[in-house]
Amino acid sequence: MKKLHVIGGGLAGSEAAWQAAESGLDVVLHEMRPTRATFAHQTDGLAELVCSNSFRSDDAMNNAVGLLHEEMRRTGSLILAMADRHKLPAGGALAVDREGFSRGVTEALAEHPRVTIAREEIAGLPPPEWGSVIVATGPLTSESLSASIAEAAGQDHLAFFDAIAPIVHRDSIDFDIAWFQSRYDKKGPGGGDADYINLPMTEEQYRAFVTALLEGEKTDFKEWEKSTPYFEACLPIEVMAARGLDTLRFGPMKPVGLQDPRSTTRPHAVVQLRQDNALGSLWNMVGFQTKLKHGEQVRIFRTIPGLANAEFARLGGLHRNTFINSPRLLDQQLRLKARPHLRFAGQVTGVEGYVESAAIGLLAGRFAAAEQLGQPHAPPPTTTAFGALLAHITGGADAETFQPMNVNYGLFPPLPPGKKTKGKDRKQALSARALTDLETWLGTKAAAE
Ligand SMILES: Cc1cc2nc3c(=O)[nH]c(=O)nc-3n(C[C@H](O)[C@H](O)[C@H](O)COP(=O)(O)OP(=O)(O)OC[C@H]3O[C@@H](n4cnc5c(N)ncnc54)[C@H](O)[C@@H]3O)c2cc1C
Repeated sequence: MKKLHVIGGGLAGSEAAWQAAESGLDVVLHEMRPTRATFAHQTDGLAELVCSNSFRSDDAMNNAVGLLHEEMRRTGSLILAMADRHKLPAGGALAVDREGFSRGVTEALAEHPRVTIAREEIAGLPPPEWGSVIVATGPLTSESLSASIAEAAGQDHLAFFDAIAPIVHRDSIDFDIAWFQSRYDKKGPGGGDADYINLPMTEEQYRAFVTALLEGEKTDFKEWEKSTPYFEACLPIEVMAARGLDTLRFGPMKPVGLQDPRSTTRPHAVVQLRQDNALGSLWNMVGFQTKLKHGEQVRIFRTIPGLANAEFARLGGLHRNTFINSPRLLDQQLRLKARPHLRFAGQVTGVEGYVESAAIGLLAGRFAAAEQLGQPHAPPPTTTAFGALLAHITGGADAETFQPMNVNYGLFPPLPPGKKTKGKDRKQALSARALTDLETWLGTKAAAE
């Protein structure tokens, strides 16, 4: 009998189990709660929402997460069906009654004839005798399983904190101010001598910026996060600023080896941005991980010369978060290259958020089922939200600087030349293309890889 084991009954594991069972596989879903608790979960329900009750924008034509909702609905998602059934008034957002939602997911899986729910912690990565396994244990993966993942993946490829620097859409940067250059024009292993985008600051601008960082409103580490050590290399930018006026100028904002081609004086400080995806549409602010509140980040970072109109694909953060270096470790079917009977899904793959985690669970469940049932399942086209997110974590993102990512339009391949490429028109054209391509993919899902 073909069987799939799914470890973790959160957003991703519940969706993966549902998809695989609906495809015809028997599934054992292993969830450690209530036998073993996490720091954030409060109940023994599957798909518990640990914080906000919002799935964010539900606007499929103007927002990438709204588009992902729609793609999930069209793909028979249990998570989206239950979110729709338990939704609460929230303007353009999809917010849910968290108890009703979690209960709905739990009951649907408990009643599914092909699903068995086992309330137990899986303390190590299962051996090949288990057959196909999906690991969907989330940002708070239990300690013993984390240790086992680190052993299989390599210690350097499992993180316990995300150290998220903000990411800017390239087309929102002012190139009358910014310039491309690598420090000392040094050629990197994979690039040229002008790989970074540089933003110069005068002394006055730098002083004002440091003051703004120190005064900006921050979020605190949770009590249970304080006990997990994080590396000096991941210090929040405002913590560095608090160590002295010049600390940032000797750290991530050092101006040496960089010359603004439009000026003869050396900048007092420089903010550098490094390419973050293969498409070159997203650039991350080097060393700018921060605990500043999101609104404060937008306000303060837009004072940086060249970023006055910056649009952020992701804002900075620093949270307890267990995730693997997926671009290095996983293939396009979410299999661990070194142990292909193991798939990973959800936040542990380095996507961020309830919806993205469930979406990757959905794909993992379908891939695992198709593989076992001998119906190869091609990955979704990169022009869909599913495909753009999957391609990002399984290779599109830079493995050296990989950090968790929300779905956003910067992950999508550009529209053909001549198409409307700005603002709302661009988003709507990308969404329309995605939904058309999704339908084709769903229609041909049994086609060979
Ligand atoms: C404190 C906190 C707040 C967050 N707030 C938000 C938010 O507001 N909005 C948002 O979109 N995202 C938020 N996130 C991110 C959120 O966790 C993910 O978006 C989402 O829950 C990830 O889904 P998942 O299925 O990957 O993990 P989870 O939903 O966490 O599911 C993982 C499951 O695996 C189980 N498990 C762990 N280890 C084992 C094991 N060894 N054996 C068996 N079972 C195991 C856990 O009990 C859990 O049920 C937050 C995360 C944290 C930690």
